[in-house]
Amino acid sequence: MKLADRVQSLTPSSTLAITAKAKSLKQQGHDVIGLGAGEPDFNTPQHILEAAKQAMEEGKTKYTPAGGLPELKKAIYEKFLRDQQLSYDPSEIIVTNGAKHALYTLFQVILNPGDEVIVPAPYWVSYPEQIKLAQGNPVIVNALEDNQFKLTPEQIEQAITERTKAIIINSPSNPTGSIYSKEELQALGDVCIKHNLLIVSDEIYEKLVYGDEKHVSIAQLSDQLKENTIIINGVSKSHSMTGWRIGYAAGNETVIKAMTNLASHSTSNPTSISQYAAIEAYSQSEEEIDKMKNAFEDRLNKLYDWITAIDGISCVKPKGAFYLFPNIQKAVENCGFSSVDEWVTALLEEEKVALVPGSGFGADQNVRFSYATSLDQLEEAAKRIKKFVDKHA
Ligand code: PLP
Repeated sequence: MKLADRVQSLTPSSTLAITAKAKSLKQQGHDVIGLGAGEPDFNTPQHILEAAKQAMEEGKTKYTPAGGLPELKKAIYEKFLRDQQLSYDPSEIIVTNGAKHALYTLFQVILNPGDEVIVPAPYWVSYPEQIKLAQGNPVIVNALEDNQFKLTPEQIEQAITERTKAIIINSPSNPTGSIYSKEELQALGDVCIKHNLLIVSDEIYEKLVYGDEKHVSIAQLSDQLKENTIIINGVSKSHSMTGWRIGYAAGNETVIKAMTNLASHSTSNPTSISQYAAIEAYSQSEEEIDKMKNAFEDRLNKLYDWITAIDGISCVKPKGAFYLFPNIQKAVENCGFSSVDEWVTALLEEEKVALVPGSGFGADQNVRFSYATSLDQLEEAAKRIKKFVDKHA
């Protein structure tokens, strides 16, 4: 069967590939520690489960408007007002089947063949693939480790051509955990406004920020930046609701309307029951969210110390999300491997620790640890990695 051209160059998600390999080793009876997952390990809070059950019992199991239930849009409106002091009309919000689908739909409606989107590397694996699926060209710009993996305004200026349509900002970032400050966002925003770029601001890790860090949305900085920005967010990471598939986009009404039209012909609507669960998630206190956040922060601090104590591994300390993205190039060389990919494969085979190589995120010298697992598992993983490195040195 000859497949369509558009899927010929599609690469499978590297995160899923390593997870699959780890799973198969587990099935063979090995004691595998999987640090590949991109999802919180906590259960969805009980009150959200109850709201979903109630929705089912009340028969709220039918089609909903394509762009989401009005009650959920209202809850999202109130969330934006509460958290970012941003006001979005219901016509400026679309609820989607996860944040991933919000991004997919967005690229489909804004890109013509050959349009360019600036993607800062290290990037979340799906951005370049989604842009290519919409016949756009991802323009990868390397955010330097020395600059905490953040782009500078000069780098954006240099990457802009007459075909540049949009830029992605993902703060806090997957995989680096970096966060842009208000001042840095302002400087990036000035360049975007000057060149009339659409800013795709992926804020899915908004609630997972540590220490004194504060999440700022670039859309908060001026009316013009708000007009030029589409915010992407959702409940997957904040409320440990990855399987419920509720995300959303907010911004320019014309863009949101086109996304809604596309959704009406593709998904019809996000799952009705999940939408009622999301209303509950956004209508209650953030006590549960804070508990998860505190647990993540504790794990980050400990894992960071354990991993950076290993020979040949250095790391920009993340400020948000739930990943560590150390540079292991020296360790790879010390161990006699020719690439991070090789090192990661040998680690999984010999010590049964699953990490994701940085190559899938556009960073060949790094590796991604997810600390969405228990402290015991993290400590054991760090011990095994140290053993592996010492053995090969
Ligand atoms: N954006 C980033 C940066 C992510 O890491 C993820 C999930 O891994 C998503 C978007 C997608 O989130 P969702 O599960 O809501 O589709």
